[in-house]
Amino acid sequence: MQHTFGPAKQYSMNTKNDHPTAMTEKDNFSDRDPADTRTPPYTAIIIGGGPAGLFCACRAAGKDRRILVLEKMPSCGRKLCITGAGRCNLTHTGTMADFVSHYGGDGGKFLRPALMNFKNTDLLAFFRERGIPFTADENGKYFPQRRHGKGCPLRLMAECMRAGIEIRCGGESVQTIKPTNDLFTVSSEDATYTAEQVVLATGGASYPATGSTGDGYTLADRLGLPVTETGPALAAVLIRDYPFRDLTGISFDDVPLSLYRDSKKTRQVTGDIILTVNGISGPPGALHISRYVRPGDSLHVGFVTGTNEESARKDLAAVIAGGKNRQVKTVLAETGIPIRFLIRLLELSGIPRDATCAHLTKTDRNTLIRYLTDFPFTVKGTEGYATAMATRGGVARDAIRQKTMEAKEVPGLFCIGEVLDIDGGDTGGYNLQAAFSTAALAAKAMVSGGKTNKKK
Ligand SMILES: Cc1cc2nc3c(=O)[nH]c(=O)nc-3n(C[C@H](O)[C@H](O)[C@H](O)COP(=O)(O)OP(=O)(O)OC[C@H]3O[C@@H](n4cnc5c(N)ncnc54)[C@H](O)[C@@H]3O)c2cc1C
Repeated sequence: MQHTFGPAKQYSMNTKNDHPTAMTEKDNFSDRDPADTRTPPYTAIIIGGGPAGLFCACRAAGKDRRILVLEKMPSCGRKLCITGAGRCNLTHTGTMADFVSHYGGDGGKFLRPALMNFKNTDLLAFFRERGIPFTADENGKYFPQRRHGKGCPLRLMAECMRAGIEIRCGGESVQTIKPTNDLFTVSSEDATYTAEQVVLATGGASYPATGSTGDGYTLADRLGLPVTETGPALAAVLIRDYPFRDLTGISFDDVPLSLYRDSKKTRQVTGDIILTVNGISGPPGALHISRYVRPGDSLHVGFVTGTNEESARKDLAAVIAGGKNRQVKTVLAETGIPIRFLIRLLELSGIPRDATCAHLTKTDRNTLIRYLTDFPFTVKGTEGYATAMATRGGVARDAIRQKTMEAKEVPGLFCIGEVLDIDGGDTGGYNLQAAFSTAALAAKAMVSGGKTNKKK
């Protein structure tokens, strides 16, 4: 049975020094009268209390604008709390022109107006003005100076409270959105609400324990919005017949990874990797290529750093030639390759462990060098949504107005953040910047468009 609830008590914060700790289910005020159907519609309902939803709510607030955030988890911003290994890598250095190349597919091109409207400098200023200064590390990633990221969700919540936004958590898992006449009817597990505008900010499908379980794709699909194929991105890559199970934890810096499908090279990245129990992981190398891999693909990894494969081969050949009567593994280990890993490669090449450089046949030497510079793995898949940092695919970009984030065929409906077919193919703060920038752009359009967004 559905109810239309009367107005709920709003969260409010009156002083600058108020600090919300966390908004939990028990904070949902229960003095709503289910029989009260006189409630005027909300100006906007935002579905999802992640960074995109909360920030959109703050920016879309204003006099006479009643805004409601519905969050299905007992508290908001759960994924934001665990970003950057708990330190919140909010954004990256660089110009917005640089940013666009860091999103998978053509995502960056689509994001350009959002990124130009609300840049990395704007995002940093937003938090700095609210007492959270950020600094960039040597790789250009911005982290809070105090080195923990929990402050960001709290600041966002505080902003929402100051702006008089109503936030309802827990039991507010939105099940349906129905456009009827000039209003949307939004039904959660607990209640039914009406609003002039609706924002889908439900995130992707990765790390479902944080609440992002892909609901947004179903909701969008039911509204007739096309949704592109989704899958895990920024995830560890699983390997078939993996030969390094017992070498977990060995890592390699700045090595080349090339992806082949049907014998054609489709992608190449360079980055750090780490061997896991069933494949390879680690940003940026393995994680960055993970959005592109499919089962059965060939993933070739070079385990030595060189200007290119050819020069790496020549350098290894020279090292082996100069090793004379010393053991191959000892000589190569002196170049920085872990000895346990070398022993495994010797086994895989059919070369005795104690083989000396002078006694290595040409064929054996070539096999060993090939394994070191271009080891062929067969992809089994990725570790999946449980540990992926992002979702590739989502609400199709061509169904969304690039300059407002409004759905072309459903006026008044806005899609922001990771529910869109956008993913930062690179780690570094690109996903969060996209969430905040799309939120800011949608809010701007919501405020200026008002009810005129609705189809007449
Ligand atoms: C481990 C990890 C580390 C990461 N680190 C970084 C990083 O350092 N930098 C970076 O840029 N990105 C990082 N990301 C990615 C980044 O966190 C996401 O891209 C970002 O949180 C997306 O924001 P969003 O608001 O669109 O979605 P989310 O943060 O996923 O929020 C969506 C919200 O909607 C709610 N919701 C879902 N369905 C419903 C429904 N039916 N009804 C009501 N509410 C609903 C969810 O409970 C959730 O609270 C990381 C991700 C993970 C998993």
